[in-house]
Amino acid sequence: MGSKQNPRRNESVRRTRSGEYLAESVAQRLSGPRDATELAHLFRDETACREYLAAVRWPRGFVCPHCGDRSPAQRSERGLWLCPTCDTVSSPATGTLLDRSPLPLCGWFRAVWEVFATDHGANPDSLAKVLGVRRPALVWAWLEQLRTIMAAASAEPLVGLVEVAKVPIELELPGAGNRRTLGHRIVAVAVEARGSELGRVRIRRLERVDGPAMTRFVTETVGRGSTLRTGTWSGYGRLRSSGYGHLVAGGADELYEARMQCMQLMTAMLRIWLRTAPALSLERSDYYLDELVFRLNERGMCLAAERGALFRRIVEVAVTPLTAMPAVARAAV
Ligand SMILES: [Zn+2]
Repeated sequence: MGSKQNPRRNESVRRTRSGEYLAESVAQRLSGPRDATELAHLFRDETACREYLAAVRWPRGFVCPHCGDRSPAQRSERGLWLCPTCDTVSSPATGTLLDRSPLPLCGWFRAVWEVFATDHGANPDSLAKVLGVRRPALVWAWLEQLRTIMAAASAEPLVGLVEVAKVPIELELPGAGNRRTLGHRIVAVAVEARGSELGRVRIRRLERVDGPAMTRFVTETVGRGSTLRTGTWSGYGRLRSSGYGHLVAGGADELYEARMQCMQLMTAMLRIWLRTAPALSLERSDYYLDELVFRLNERGMCLAAERGALFRRIVEVAVTPLTAMPAVARAAV
């Protein structure tokens, strides 16, 4: 198979500051919207939306998603890109996560903008207005698609010294009949400890709180060969045999102090986020946990979101060809 058959070799991929991957960034060359007026102008119709996506996906000119050829594309009657080499029509969404979206592009962009309008997580009510739908199920179907993009943006394994902990969170749980009750569930947290700073983070709700579930969480989120620092819970017992260094912080030693500083900060951010999430229930908690992970990893462990930067990052990941994503990201899709 020659290079012409392999789009991955022809589309550059780089890593972000936090070690995540994305297609060649256009953040420096192509600004995202700064406010609602710019949003309305940049994404005024489907053609304008497609041109923006093309500039993000092909910053150095068209690369055919089918054969990888870089010859300048002709345009079809519908304004799509026609490869002169393999004679195939494509759009900037071809072969990407965005390819699966049933929404018109204008609506898709407006909805992404709306999600990052506040520092409190996606609001289903305001999204329903933007998307022009009344059924909550449709809003949540769209949010699940966004969640997939956010998860793909945060799929690279954590490395180095990684704190691992289980943290109780309070959620609305289904009760008898239509009643809702407050209750606790456990989430697993893994966060890179970089000296006195926190690095990238992964958070996942545990269906079962036992050793196998915690080991699965760690092996799916932390690179082998990393060193884990945990508490004394027996559920961490299998980690060393799974290919990790394992430090147990169990008392008033230095390890314990350092661990507690990291975990107190992480736990505080987690609880602030969940307290302000607009629709927190057991069924929706996984979405909000993934949105928090995305925001934290993109904004350097700061809940305050720079709306335009988060917007651009979502678009960049959405039009990254699936073939150019690392295997771990494709598995998350
Ligand atoms: Zn082609």
